[in-house]
Amino acid sequence: MPQMVAIFNGFGGGASALVACAEYFRMQELAAPINVLGTMVLSVLIGTVTFTGSLIAFGKLQGIMRGAPITFKFQNFANGLLIAVALALGVVFVLDPTLWVMLLLIVALAAILGVLSVIPIGGADMPVVISLLNSYSGLAAAATGFVISNNVLIISGALVGASGLILTNIMCGAMNRSLANVLFGAVGTDGGMIAADGEEKSVTQYTAEDAVMMLDNAESVIIVPGYGLAVAQAQHILQEMAEMLQDRGVNVRYAIHPVAGRMPGHMNVLLAEASVPYDLLFEMDAINDDFQNTDVALVIGANDVINPAARYKKESALYGMPILNVDQAGTVMIIKRSLSPGFAGEDNELFYAEKTMMLFGDAKKVVTDIVQVLKGGG
Ligand code: NDP
Repeated sequence: MPQMVAIFNGFGGGASALVACAEYFRMQELAAPINVLGTMVLSVLIGTVTFTGSLIAFGKLQGIMRGAPITFKFQNFANGLLIAVALALGVVFVLDPTLWVMLLLIVALAAILGVLSVIPIGGADMPVVISLLNSYSGLAAAATGFVISNNVLIISGALVGASGLILTNIMCGAMNRSLANVLFGAVGTDGGMIAADGEEKSVTQYTAEDAVMMLDNAESVIIVPGYGLAVAQAQHILQEMAEMLQDRGVNVRYAIHPVAGRMPGHMNVLLAEASVPYDLLFEMDAINDDFQNTDVALVIGANDVINPAARYKKESALYGMPILNVDQAGTVMIIKRSLSPGFAGEDNELFYAEKTMMLFGDAKKVVTDIVQVLKGGG
């Protein structure tokens, strides 16, 4: 899904740039007014940046490219220079629209700019890139709307552009970073490929029977979904398990971290698909103080969004990101396949904590096993 969102943003931007170019060749004989030529340049510039930038975001999310930031010397300077040259060419084009080669040069520079501006962004900062590219695709569409005098395109493009920017702002807030830091900071590591710190640490592995014993005796359970839930497509069986616990009198709620998963709103979409009642879903700020009074925090395929390193480990890509206070619950139950780190590549000390029960395996398989035991068949 996140990859698809990334590629759709790119196609949106690419389509806007193509329509603007086509309109230029259509209007060549008609001496287009200066404002149309200006928006044409903007549409081609922003649309092409969105297209190639989104292809890179797609490649990183799909694992075709490495997720770690790719940096080189004078990167920000090079990007600034590309923008300046592209805008200067745009001015030349507006002053003399017969110089169509300028438009092609702008496409070429914008294509390079799109690639260069996304490759240095990695790890935990990807959600911001996705929503920012989404906003760019809207801006490109709005500019194209001016080029072809289409009000619907102008309005819908402006709406996408503005809402994308607001979402970007919310994402930055959720990760406690400024947009400038995300775009130019080159923070992050290879998506889960970098091993944990390599130290020998021991964890205790628990079974579905152990989990049921704990869950059955709990008064309150907070479920923390993460990316692994989406990978395993375990949302339906999870909903079944939650209903069974509720039938036994357990107070079950879901804690949703704003950047859990791989795209804005990922967990909300996933749980809605399984018909989880919306009033059981709580935003991080609304539920974070409740973990201390909760018997079991059941973490399913989440990692970065519960990693306590975000609170104190300054050198970590996660540092400063607000996390769910899972560690304050009476017992922490974590379902995942291994001890490997999450998207930001940071080892999680919670796996080794005394109050933590690790249930290793695919989320769907483990939750199915728990449901079987709850049904008395396990
Ligand atoms: P994480 O990537 O931190 O952790 C997901 C965990 O799920 C992994 O540690 C993995 O462990 C486990 N997992 C994967 N597949 C399965 C499976 N089939 N069954 C069980 N477990 C599985 O995800 P979080 O949701 O906690 O955090 C989101 C991260 O992604 C943050 O860093 C965020 O910034 C970033 N991000 C968020 C975006 C957004 O817009 N929401 C977009 C892009 C990135 P194991 O391999 O051991 O199973």
